[in-house]
Amino acid sequence: MKKVVKFGGSSLASAEQFEKVGNIIRSDKHRIFVVPSAPGKRFDGDTKVTDMLYGAYDLAREDKNFDKELEAIKARYQEIIDGLKLKVSLDDEFAQIKKNFAAKVGVDYAASRGEYLNGILMAAYLGYEFIDAAKVIFFKANGDLNSEKTQTLLSEALANAKKAVVPGFYGSMEDGSIRTFSRGGSDITGSLVAKACKADVYENWTDVSGFMVADPRIIKNPQSIETITYRELRELAYMGAGVLHEEAIFPVRKGGIPINIRNTNAPEDEGTWIVESTCQKSKYVITGIAGKKGFCAINIEKDRMNSEIGFGRKVLQAFEENDISFEHMPSGIDTMTIFVHQSEFAEKEQRVLAAIHKLAQPDTIDMESDLALIAVVGRGMKSTRGTAGRIFSALAHANVNVKMIDQGSSELNIIIGVDNADFEEAIRAIYTIFVETQI
Ligand code: ASP
Repeated sequence: MKKVVKFGGSSLASAEQFEKVGNIIRSDKHRIFVVPSAPGKRFDGDTKVTDMLYGAYDLAREDKNFDKELEAIKARYQEIIDGLKLKVSLDDEFAQIKKNFAAKVGVDYAASRGEYLNGILMAAYLGYEFIDAAKVIFFKANGDLNSEKTQTLLSEALANAKKAVVPGFYGSMEDGSIRTFSRGGSDITGSLVAKACKADVYENWTDVSGFMVADPRIIKNPQSIETITYRELRELAYMGAGVLHEEAIFPVRKGGIPINIRNTNAPEDEGTWIVESTCQKSKYVITGIAGKKGFCAINIEKDRMNSEIGFGRKVLQAFEENDISFEHMPSGIDTMTIFVHQSEFAEKEQRVLAAIHKLAQPDTIDMESDLALIAVVGRGMKSTRGTAGRIFSALAHANVNVKMIDQGSSELNIIIGVDNADFEEAIRAIYTIFVETQI
Protein backbone atom coordinates (compact mmCIF):
# COMPACT_ATOMS: atom_id res chain seq x y z
CA MET A 1 0.00 0.00 0.00
CA LYS A 2 1.36 3.41 -1.00
CA LYS A 3 -0.08 6.77 -0.08
CA VAL A 4 0.92 10.13 -1.47
CA VAL A 5 0.17 12.99 0.88
CA LYS A 6 0.05 16.60 -0.21
CA PHE A 7 -0.16 19.36 2.39
CA GLY A 8 -1.42 22.83 1.57
CA GLY A 9 0.10 26.11 2.73
CA SER A 10 -2.05 26.58 5.82
CA SER A 11 -1.09 23.06 6.96
CA LEU A 12 2.57 24.14 6.87
CA ALA A 13 2.36 27.75 7.93
CA SER A 14 4.22 27.34 11.24
CA ALA A 15 6.23 24.88 13.35
CA GLU A 16 3.02 23.98 15.16
CA GLN A 17 1.34 23.07 11.90
CA PHE A 18 4.44 21.11 10.82
CA GLU A 19 4.09 19.05 13.99
CA LYS A 20 0.48 18.19 13.18
CA VAL A 21 1.64 17.15 9.71
CA GLY A 22 4.46 15.07 11.21
CA ASN A 23 1.98 13.25 13.45
CA ILE A 24 -0.32 12.55 10.52
CA ILE A 25 2.51 11.14 8.42
CA ARG A 26 3.99 9.07 11.23
CA SER A 27 0.62 7.62 12.17
CA ASP A 28 0.45 5.64 8.90
CA LYS A 29 3.50 3.88 7.50
CA HIS A 30 2.01 3.91 4.02
CA ARG A 31 2.36 7.68 3.77
CA ILE A 32 5.70 7.50 1.98
CA PHE A 33 5.68 10.34 -0.53
CA VAL A 34 5.03 13.87 0.66
CA VAL A 35 4.28 16.94 -1.46
CA PRO A 36 4.41 20.23 0.48
CA SER A 37 3.17 23.68 -0.52
CA ALA A 38 4.94 26.84 0.64
CA PRO A 39 4.07 28.15 4.12
CA GLY A 40 0.66 29.82 3.94
CA LYS A 41 -1.17 32.21 6.24
CA ARG A 42 -0.75 31.70 10.00
CA PHE A 43 -3.68 33.95 10.81
CA ASP A 44 -6.23 36.16 9.04
CA GLY A 45 -4.42 39.02 7.39
CA ASP A 46 -1.06 37.17 7.24
CA THR A 47 0.76 36.87 3.89
CA LYS A 48 1.56 33.59 2.14
CA VAL A 49 5.26 33.04 1.48
CA THR A 50 4.49 32.66 -2.24
CA ASP A 51 3.02 36.17 -2.26
CA MET A 52 6.00 37.50 -0.30
CA LEU A 53 8.27 35.99 -2.96
CA TYR A 54 6.30 37.59 -5.78
CA GLY A 55 6.55 40.90 -3.94
CA ALA A 56 10.31 40.66 -3.42
CA TYR A 57 10.90 39.67 -7.02
CA ASP A 58 8.84 42.61 -8.28
CA LEU A 59 11.35 44.88 -6.51
CA ALA A 60 14.32 42.96 -7.93
CA ARG A 61 12.88 43.33 -11.40
CA GLU A 62 12.71 47.09 -10.97
CA ASP A 63 16.31 47.14 -9.67
CA LYS A 64 15.04 48.17 -6.25
CA ASN A 65 16.45 46.88 -2.98
CA PHE A 66 14.70 43.70 -1.82
CA ASP A 67 16.89 42.81 1.21
CA LYS A 68 14.20 43.56 3.77
CA GLU A 69 11.61 41.51 1.90
CA LEU A 70 13.94 38.54 1.54
CA GLU A 71 14.84 38.74 5.22
CA ALA A 72 11.15 38.59 6.13
CA ILE A 73 10.80 35.43 4.04
CA LYS A 74 13.87 33.93 5.67
CA ALA A 75 12.37 34.72 9.07
CA ARG A 76 9.28 32.68 8.19
CA TYR A 77 11.46 29.62 7.60
CA GLN A 78 13.69 30.33 10.59
CA GLU A 79 10.61 30.35 12.80
CA ILE A 80 9.82 26.83 11.59
CA ILE A 81 13.43 25.64 11.94
CA ASP A 82 13.63 26.98 15.51
CA GLY A 83 10.20 25.72 16.49
CA LEU A 84 11.05 22.21 15.32
CA LYS A 85 14.64 22.40 16.59
CA LEU A 86 15.94 21.32 13.21
CA LYS A 87 19.65 21.29 12.53
CA VAL A 88 19.30 22.91 9.15
CA SER A 89 20.66 26.20 7.88
CA LEU A 90 19.15 27.89 4.84
CA ASP A 91 21.90 30.55 4.69
CA ASP A 92 23.48 29.18 1.52
CA GLU A 93 20.09 28.73 -0.11
CA PHE A 94 19.13 32.33 0.62
CA ALA A 95 22.49 33.63 -0.64
CA GLN A 96 21.83 31.79 -3.91
CA ILE A 97 18.25 33.06 -4.10
CA LYS A 98 19.46 36.63 -3.57
CA LYS A 99 21.95 36.27 -6.40
CA ASN A 100 19.34 34.79 -8.73
CA PHE A 101 16.82 37.50 -7.90
CA ALA A 102 19.41 40.16 -8.66
CA ALA A 103 20.18 38.39 -11.94
CA LYS A 104 16.41 38.42 -12.66
CA VAL A 105 16.25 34.75 -13.52
CA GLY A 106 12.47 34.78 -13.67
CA VAL A 107 9.28 35.21 -11.70
CA ASP A 108 8.48 31.49 -11.75
CA TYR A 109 11.85 30.71 -10.19
CA ALA A 110 11.10 33.29 -7.51
CA ALA A 111 7.67 31.87 -6.69
CA SER A 112 8.90 28.28 -6.69
CA ARG A 113 11.39 28.90 -3.87
CA GLY A 114 8.55 28.78 -1.35
CA GLU A 115 7.90 25.09 -2.03
CA TYR A 116 11.56 24.31 -2.63
CA LEU A 117 12.67 25.56 0.79
CA ASN A 118 9.68 24.06 2.55
CA GLY A 119 10.52 20.74 0.90
CA ILE A 120 14.05 20.89 2.30
CA LEU A 121 12.69 21.53 5.81
CA MET A 122 10.04 18.85 5.51
CA ALA A 123 12.58 16.25 4.35
CA ALA A 124 14.89 17.13 7.25
CA TYR A 125 12.03 17.03 9.73
CA LEU A 126 10.75 13.63 8.60
CA GLY A 127 14.10 12.08 7.73
CA TYR A 128 12.86 11.53 4.17
CA GLU A 129 14.87 11.94 0.97
CA PHE A 130 14.50 15.30 -0.84
CA ILE A 131 13.74 15.15 -4.57
CA ASP A 132 13.91 18.54 -6.29
CA ALA A 133 10.82 18.89 -8.50
CA ALA A 134 12.99 20.63 -11.12
CA LYS A 135 14.62 17.25 -11.81
CA VAL A 136 11.43 15.23 -12.17
CA ILE A 137 8.67 17.50 -13.47
CA PHE A 138 8.98 18.98 -16.94
CA PHE A 139 7.24 21.52 -19.10
CA LYS A 140 7.25 21.91 -22.88
CA ALA A 141 8.35 25.09 -24.61
CA ASN A 142 4.69 26.22 -24.90
CA GLY A 143 4.30 25.95 -21.11
CA ASP A 144 2.19 22.77 -21.09
CA LEU A 145 3.24 19.92 -18.86
CA ASN A 146 5.45 17.37 -20.61
CA SER A 147 3.49 14.39 -19.28
CA GLU A 148 5.56 11.63 -20.88
CA LYS A 149 8.94 12.88 -19.72
CA THR A 150 7.55 13.68 -16.28
CA GLN A 151 5.97 10.26 -15.91
CA THR A 152 9.21 8.49 -16.93
CA LEU A 153 11.65 10.45 -14.79
CA LEU A 154 9.36 10.93 -11.83
CA SER A 155 8.45 7.26 -11.57
CA GLU A 156 12.12 6.33 -11.90
CA ALA A 157 13.12 8.69 -9.07
CA LEU A 158 10.29 7.47 -6.83
CA ALA A 159 11.12 3.82 -7.51
CA ASN A 160 14.64 4.49 -6.24
CA ALA A 161 13.47 6.23 -3.08
CA LYS A 162 11.91 4.58 -0.06
CA LYS A 163 10.37 7.69 1.40
CA ALA A 164 10.68 11.10 -0.20
CA VAL A 165 9.53 14.70 -0.25
CA VAL A 166 8.84 16.31 -3.63
CA PRO A 167 8.04 20.04 -3.38
CA GLY A 168 4.86 21.11 -5.14
CA PHE A 169 4.04 23.82 -7.68
CA TYR A 170 7.05 23.78 -10.03
CA GLY A 171 9.20 21.90 -12.49
CA SER A 172 11.62 22.86 -15.22
CA MET A 173 11.61 23.81 -18.88
CA GLU A 174 13.74 22.19 -21.57
CA ASP A 175 16.38 24.89 -21.05
CA GLY A 176 16.58 24.17 -17.32
CA SER A 177 14.74 27.31 -16.21
CA ILE A 178 12.07 26.96 -13.54
CA ARG A 179 8.40 27.04 -14.42
CA THR A 180 5.43 26.91 -12.06
CA PHE A 181 1.89 25.67 -12.49
CA SER A 182 -0.86 28.22 -11.95
CA ARG A 183 -1.64 29.22 -8.35
CA GLY A 184 -2.57 26.33 -6.10
CA GLY A 185 -0.60 24.05 -8.41
CA SER A 186 0.95 21.88 -5.69
CA ASP A 187 -2.27 19.86 -5.99
CA ILE A 188 -1.18 18.95 -9.51
CA THR A 189 2.28 17.90 -8.33
CA GLY A 190 0.66 15.62 -5.75
CA SER A 191 -1.49 14.08 -8.42
CA LEU A 192 1.50 13.52 -10.71
CA VAL A 193 3.48 11.90 -7.89
CA ALA A 194 0.52 9.63 -7.07
CA LYS A 195 0.22 8.56 -10.69
CA ALA A 196 3.95 8.04 -11.14
CA CYS A 197 4.31 5.75 -8.10
CA LYS A 198 0.96 4.03 -8.72
CA ALA A 199 -0.29 5.07 -5.31
CA ASP A 200 -3.35 3.45 -3.76
CA VAL A 201 -4.64 6.82 -2.66
CA TYR A 202 -3.75 10.48 -3.07
CA GLU A 203 -4.46 12.26 0.19
CA ASN A 204 -4.79 16.01 -0.17
CA TRP A 205 -4.56 17.64 3.27
CA THR A 206 -5.96 21.13 3.66
CA ASP A 207 -7.78 23.22 6.25
CA VAL A 208 -11.34 22.04 5.62
CA SER A 209 -12.85 18.58 6.00
CA GLY A 210 -13.47 18.11 2.29
CA PHE A 211 -15.94 19.53 -0.15
CA MET A 212 -19.13 21.12 1.05
CA VAL A 213 -22.48 20.77 -0.67
CA ALA A 214 -22.45 24.56 -1.16
CA ASP A 215 -20.12 27.47 -0.59
CA PRO A 216 -19.83 28.19 3.17
CA ARG A 217 -19.67 31.91 2.40
CA ILE A 218 -23.26 31.64 1.19
CA ILE A 219 -24.62 28.78 3.33
CA LYS A 220 -23.76 28.73 7.01
CA ASN A 221 -22.18 25.40 8.03
CA PRO A 222 -23.11 23.48 4.90
CA GLN A 223 -23.09 19.68 4.90
CA SER A 224 -19.92 18.05 3.62
CA ILE A 225 -19.76 15.68 0.67
CA GLU A 226 -18.63 12.15 1.57
CA THR A 227 -18.10 10.77 -1.91
CA ILE A 228 -18.04 12.53 -5.23
CA THR A 229 -17.12 11.27 -8.69
CA TYR A 230 -14.43 12.89 -10.82
CA ARG A 231 -17.09 14.00 -13.29
CA GLU A 232 -19.23 15.63 -10.64
CA LEU A 233 -16.20 17.33 -9.18
CA ARG A 234 -15.17 18.61 -12.56
CA GLU A 235 -18.58 20.26 -12.97
CA LEU A 236 -18.44 21.81 -9.51
CA ALA A 237 -14.79 22.85 -9.68
CA TYR A 238 -15.35 24.47 -13.04
CA MET A 239 -18.14 26.47 -11.48
CA GLY A 240 -15.85 27.72 -8.78
CA ALA A 241 -15.97 25.18 -5.95
CA GLY A 242 -12.45 25.64 -4.56
CA VAL A 243 -10.43 23.26 -2.35
CA LEU A 244 -8.65 21.41 -5.18
CA HIS A 245 -6.91 22.78 -8.28
CA GLU A 246 -9.05 22.06 -11.34
CA GLU A 247 -6.23 20.34 -13.20
CA ALA A 248 -5.30 18.06 -10.31
CA ILE A 249 -7.84 15.38 -11.10
CA PHE A 250 -6.49 14.44 -14.52
CA PRO A 251 -3.29 12.51 -13.65
CA VAL A 252 -4.85 10.42 -10.86
CA ARG A 253 -7.98 9.85 -12.87
CA LYS A 254 -5.86 8.29 -15.60
CA GLY A 255 -4.24 6.07 -13.00
CA GLY A 256 -7.57 5.12 -11.38
CA ILE A 257 -6.39 6.51 -8.03
CA PRO A 258 -8.95 7.97 -5.60
CA ILE A 259 -8.32 11.33 -3.96
CA ASN A 260 -9.14 11.83 -0.30
CA ILE A 261 -9.46 15.45 0.82
CA ARG A 262 -8.55 15.66 4.52
CA ASN A 263 -8.29 18.30 7.21
CA THR A 264 -4.89 18.72 8.92
CA ASN A 265 -6.63 20.42 11.84
CA ALA A 266 -9.20 17.61 12.22
CA PRO A 267 -7.39 14.46 11.06
CA GLU A 268 -10.08 12.18 12.48
CA ASP A 269 -12.60 13.47 9.92
CA GLU A 270 -13.00 11.13 6.96
CA GLY A 271 -13.09 14.07 4.53
CA THR A 272 -14.29 13.75 0.94
CA TRP A 273 -13.48 10.83 -1.34
CA ILE A 274 -13.15 11.62 -5.03
CA VAL A 275 -13.57 8.46 -7.07
CA GLU A 276 -14.04 7.30 -10.66
CA SER A 277 -17.47 5.83 -9.97
CA THR A 278 -19.36 4.54 -7.00
CA CYS A 279 -22.44 2.56 -6.11
CA GLN A 280 -22.70 4.66 -3.02
CA LYS A 281 -25.75 6.87 -3.18
CA SER A 282 -25.08 10.45 -2.21
CA LYS A 283 -26.83 11.51 0.95
CA TYR A 284 -29.06 13.88 -0.95
CA VAL A 285 -30.38 13.80 -4.52
CA ILE A 286 -27.84 16.43 -5.38
CA THR A 287 -24.14 16.14 -4.63
CA GLY A 288 -23.32 19.83 -4.73
CA ILE A 289 -24.20 23.32 -5.89
CA ALA A 290 -21.71 25.83 -7.24
CA GLY A 291 -21.84 28.87 -9.41
CA LYS A 292 -20.15 31.91 -10.81
CA LYS A 293 -21.16 35.46 -11.43
CA GLY A 294 -20.16 37.70 -14.30
CA PHE A 295 -21.60 36.20 -17.45
CA CYS A 296 -23.05 37.87 -20.46
CA ALA A 297 -25.71 36.42 -22.78
CA ILE A 298 -25.78 37.22 -26.49
CA ASN A 299 -29.25 36.55 -27.91
CA ILE A 300 -29.38 36.03 -31.64
CA GLU A 301 -32.61 35.90 -33.63
CA LYS A 302 -33.25 35.03 -37.21
CA ASP A 303 -36.49 33.96 -38.86
CA ARG A 304 -36.35 30.32 -39.93
CA MET A 305 -33.08 29.78 -38.16
CA ASN A 306 -34.19 26.22 -37.54
CA SER A 307 -33.97 25.31 -41.20
CA GLU A 308 -30.77 27.16 -42.03
CA ILE A 309 -28.03 24.59 -42.11
CA GLY A 310 -24.75 25.81 -40.65
CA PHE A 311 -26.20 28.79 -38.80
CA GLY A 312 -24.86 27.67 -35.43
CA ARG A 313 -21.43 27.02 -36.86
CA LYS A 314 -21.25 30.51 -38.36
CA VAL A 315 -22.22 32.13 -35.08
CA LEU A 316 -19.68 30.11 -33.14
CA GLN A 317 -17.04 30.93 -35.72
CA ALA A 318 -17.44 34.61 -34.80
CA PHE A 319 -16.46 33.72 -31.23
CA GLU A 320 -13.66 31.42 -32.31
CA GLU A 321 -12.14 34.05 -34.59
CA ASN A 322 -11.99 36.38 -31.60
CA ASP A 323 -10.53 33.76 -29.30
CA ILE A 324 -13.49 33.63 -26.94
CA SER A 325 -14.71 30.37 -25.48
CA PHE A 326 -18.41 30.06 -24.87
CA GLU A 327 -19.92 28.48 -21.79
CA HIS A 328 -23.45 27.53 -22.77
CA MET A 329 -25.64 27.70 -25.79
CA PRO A 330 -29.35 27.21 -25.17
CA SER A 331 -31.50 27.61 -28.27
CA GLY A 332 -35.09 28.08 -29.42
CA ILE A 333 -36.57 27.64 -32.87
CA ASP A 334 -35.51 30.97 -34.30
CA THR A 335 -33.22 32.06 -31.48
CA MET A 336 -29.99 31.02 -29.94
CA THR A 337 -28.16 32.39 -26.95
CA ILE A 338 -24.47 32.23 -26.25
CA PHE A 339 -23.18 32.61 -22.71
CA VAL A 340 -19.66 33.99 -22.30
CA HIS A 341 -17.53 35.37 -19.49
CA GLN A 342 -18.26 39.07 -19.32
CA SER A 343 -14.67 40.02 -18.48
CA GLU A 344 -13.34 38.11 -21.49
CA PHE A 345 -16.03 39.39 -23.81
CA ALA A 346 -16.23 43.09 -22.86
CA GLU A 347 -13.21 44.33 -24.77
CA LYS A 348 -13.98 42.29 -27.89
CA GLU A 349 -17.72 42.84 -27.86
CA GLN A 350 -18.07 45.01 -30.96
CA ARG A 351 -15.70 42.89 -32.99
CA VAL A 352 -17.68 39.75 -32.16
CA LEU A 353 -20.99 41.39 -33.02
CA ALA A 354 -19.64 42.58 -36.35
CA ALA A 355 -18.35 39.09 -37.07
CA ILE A 356 -21.74 37.50 -36.25
CA HIS A 357 -23.45 39.97 -38.59
CA LYS A 358 -21.00 39.29 -41.35
CA LEU A 359 -20.96 35.51 -41.03
CA ALA A 360 -24.54 34.64 -40.05
CA GLN A 361 -26.66 37.65 -41.06
CA PRO A 362 -29.09 37.44 -38.12
CA ASP A 363 -32.22 39.64 -37.87
CA THR A 364 -31.37 40.97 -34.42
CA ILE A 365 -28.75 40.58 -31.73
CA ASP A 366 -29.22 41.80 -28.20
CA MET A 367 -27.23 41.32 -25.07
CA GLU A 368 -27.78 40.95 -21.39
CA SER A 369 -25.01 41.34 -18.87
CA ASP A 370 -24.45 40.72 -15.14
CA LEU A 371 -25.75 37.19 -15.16
CA ALA A 372 -24.76 34.31 -12.92
CA LEU A 373 -24.69 30.61 -13.70
CA ILE A 374 -25.46 28.02 -11.06
CA ALA A 375 -24.71 24.32 -11.51
CA VAL A 376 -26.74 21.81 -9.53
CA VAL A 377 -24.72 18.62 -9.79
CA GLY A 378 -25.51 15.08 -8.78
CA ARG A 379 -25.20 11.54 -10.07
CA GLY A 380 -28.42 10.86 -8.17
CA MET A 381 -30.49 13.11 -10.45
CA LYS A 382 -30.55 10.51 -13.22
CA SER A 383 -32.64 8.12 -11.21
CA THR A 384 -34.81 10.59 -9.36
CA ARG A 385 -37.95 12.13 -10.71
CA GLY A 386 -38.88 15.72 -10.13
CA THR A 387 -35.44 17.18 -9.46
CA ALA A 388 -35.85 19.99 -11.98
CA GLY A 389 -39.38 20.62 -10.72
CA ARG A 390 -38.15 21.02 -7.16
CA ILE A 391 -35.36 23.36 -8.19
CA PHE A 392 -37.69 25.66 -10.09
CA SER A 393 -40.45 25.71 -7.53
CA ALA A 394 -37.85 26.56 -4.87
CA LEU A 395 -36.57 29.40 -7.03
CA ALA A 396 -40.07 30.66 -7.72
CA HIS A 397 -40.84 30.69 -4.00
CA ALA A 398 -37.65 32.66 -3.41
CA ASN A 399 -38.74 35.17 -6.07
CA VAL A 400 -35.80 34.37 -8.29
CA ASN A 401 -36.37 34.83 -11.98
CA VAL A 402 -34.76 32.03 -13.99
CA LYS A 403 -33.22 33.35 -17.21
CA MET A 404 -31.80 30.18 -18.64
CA ILE A 405 -31.96 26.43 -18.09
CA ASP A 406 -29.59 23.89 -19.52
CA GLN A 407 -29.57 20.21 -18.62
CA GLY A 408 -26.65 18.21 -19.91
CA SER A 409 -27.53 14.94 -21.63
CA SER A 410 -25.53 13.11 -18.96
CA GLU A 411 -28.21 14.16 -16.46
CA LEU A 412 -25.37 14.93 -14.12
CA ASN A 413 -26.14 18.60 -13.86
CA ILE A 414 -28.70 21.30 -14.40
CA ILE A 415 -27.35 24.74 -15.13
CA ILE A 416 -29.47 27.74 -14.29
CA GLY A 417 -28.88 31.34 -15.33
CA VAL A 418 -30.07 34.10 -12.98
CA ASP A 419 -29.28 37.77 -12.39
CA ASN A 420 -26.03 38.36 -10.49
CA ALA A 421 -28.15 40.01 -7.81
CA ASP A 422 -30.18 36.81 -7.28
CA PHE A 423 -27.16 34.51 -7.11
CA GLU A 424 -26.88 33.96 -3.36
CA GLU A 425 -30.63 33.75 -2.83
CA ALA A 426 -30.94 31.15 -5.58
CA ILE A 427 -28.23 28.97 -4.04
CA ARG A 428 -29.83 29.24 -0.63
CA ALA A 429 -33.21 28.23 -2.05
CA ILE A 430 -31.80 25.17 -3.82
CA TYR A 431 -29.74 24.11 -0.80
CA THR A 432 -32.74 24.39 1.48
CA ILE A 433 -35.05 22.33 -0.67
CA PHE A 434 -32.58 19.45 -1.17
CA VAL A 435 -30.52 19.40 1.98
CA GLU A 436 -32.49 20.97 4.77
CA THR A 437 -35.83 19.42 3.92
CA GLN A 438 -33.93 16.18 3.11
CA ILE A 439 -36.62 14.52 1.03
N1 ASP B 1 2.21 28.12 -3.05
C1 ASP B 1 1.53 28.19 -4.29
C2 ASP B 1 0.37 29.16 -4.19
O1 ASP B 1 0.26 29.87 -3.21
C3 ASP B 1 1.11 26.86 -4.78
C4 ASP B 1 0.26 26.04 -3.86
O2 ASP B 1 0.09 26.37 -2.70
O3 ASP B 1 -0.27 25.03 -4.31
O4 ASP B 1 -0.40 29.24 -5.11
